[in-house]
Amino acid sequence: MHLESNFADLGSGFSSKTTIRPLHEQRLVEFNQTLASFLSIDIKHPETKDLLCGNVPISHSVSMVYAGHQFGGFSPQLGDGRGVLLGEVRGQDKNLYDLHMKGAGLTPYSRRGDGRAVLRSSIREYLASEAMHALGVPSSRALALYDSREAVYREQPEKGAMLLRVANGHIRFGHFEYFFYQGKTEELDQLIEYCLKHYYSQFLSSETPLKSMLIEVVERTARMIAKWQAIGFQHGVMNTDNFSFTGETIDYGPYGFMDDYDPAWVCNHSDYEGRYAFERQPGVGLWNLNCLMRCFSKHLSKDELVDILKHYEPELQSHYDELMAAKLGLYKTEKLHALLSFLFTILQSEKMDYSVFFRLLSKLEENTFSLILDEVIDRERMRAWLLEYCVERSKQKASWQDVSLAMLQVNPKYILRNYLAHDVIVAAENGDFLPFRRLLKVLTSPFDEHEESETLAQRPPEWGKSLEVSCSS
Ligand code: AMP
Ligand code: MG
Ligand code: MG
Repeated sequence: MHLESNFADLGSGFSSKTTIRPLHEQRLVEFNQTLASFLSIDIKHPETKDLLCGNVPISHSVSMVYAGHQFGGFSPQLGDGRGVLLGEVRGQDKNLYDLHMKGAGLTPYSRRGDGRAVLRSSIREYLASEAMHALGVPSSRALALYDSREAVYREQPEKGAMLLRVANGHIRFGHFEYFFYQGKTEELDQLIEYCLKHYYSQFLSSETPLKSMLIEVVERTARMIAKWQAIGFQHGVMNTDNFSFTGETIDYGPYGFMDDYDPAWVCNHSDYEGRYAFERQPGVGLWNLNCLMRCFSKHLSKDELVDILKHYEPELQSHYDELMAAKLGLYKTEKLHALLSFLFTILQSEKMDYSVFFRLLSKLEENTFSLILDEVIDRERMRAWLLEYCVERSKQKASWQDVSLAMLQVNPKYILRNYLAHDVIVAAENGDFLPFRRLLKVLTSPFDEHEESETLAQRPPEWGKSLEVSCSS
């Protein structure tokens, strides 16, 4: 394993030297071999094994300092309160990837926290990041999960764990906010240069490197959120310290994947005002980008910054339209918005499961509607929608069957529902990781049929719909 220390080398203004503090009786319980191979990491190598989990400290590992707008209010200094950046490795694609341990113990930024993560939330993050990747959403990834016999206290004692995660970068919007509001112009410039060099080098030769990079950040964020909306994912804590400058979904906490369709759904029970409700995510993305742009007000004019932000809405809308059209199996139709708004009205009032609906639609046979009509109370209204839909579907060049096959590749059969995560967590807390592995397997190929795991495609039972997830992790 060749660990680089690019971020640490920026110096003490950017991070603090911190090493992983291993947990009591820590053991490796899951390792992502495919990802490891991509990163040329050999876990069988004893030295690598010890470095990854903190048994042997890494001299250049750090925790990062940043700031952030949390639920609308500005926190001038945050940081990795329980995270350690081991360093960076090169992927087979020659890009840089951070190795970041979450739950690694106290850091200078822990404030009143204990620096730890519990097994429950580490499993939730492992599953979510791998599921998102498989669904085609840019996301941090999970490389390794360690459990332990160390008690970590939340509402009650829980098992402590650590999650080794991988992302292109862990640089957050909040990194820029930290330097801007502290008036640290030199560091802000250094950070801009760092991002251009390591993540956006295609713009180094541009006449306006910063501007071009920011447009790309805006567009990546827009596309990421379009994907969230299309698959029915809710992040739960869209604070600017949880928004990555490289356009990846990071910091999975009280997230959710939608069961019954409900645009006003709030998955995070600590979000009392519904600030980050499902339908608000696109707007919040823009709000966060607006916070980010303010950090460059000494580099670019207000008009330029506004122009950069103007890339957001069209990018999000066009990508969302493209994704939803594919979910419906419609290529190029002027009726898309009308069809969707009629459909969403039906799904909402029927309390229809979002993913199940699209999976069933993918399996619909020409002129036979019962598969879907049997799911609803108001059959006539659903039939009216299906008739309108079929008019558009019949205009497609590809055959009905070919369109169906394509739809099955974009409408997942397996979704990380809260109740599924809950079940595997209960088993894992009792030392049984088999259910976790079984769920992970279907989530990493969510469009395929897995006959042995048919039950994992089922809708939630009533108790499963009312599970509460909060910021406690
Ligand atoms: P989050 O809501 O997980 O994004 O965390 C917000 C901030 O609180 C981050 O700076 C975290 O590092 C920090 N934090 C969360 N949990 C803990 C903990 N158990 N110990 C120390 N810091 C924490
Ligand atoms: Mg965070
Ligand atoms: Mg229902």
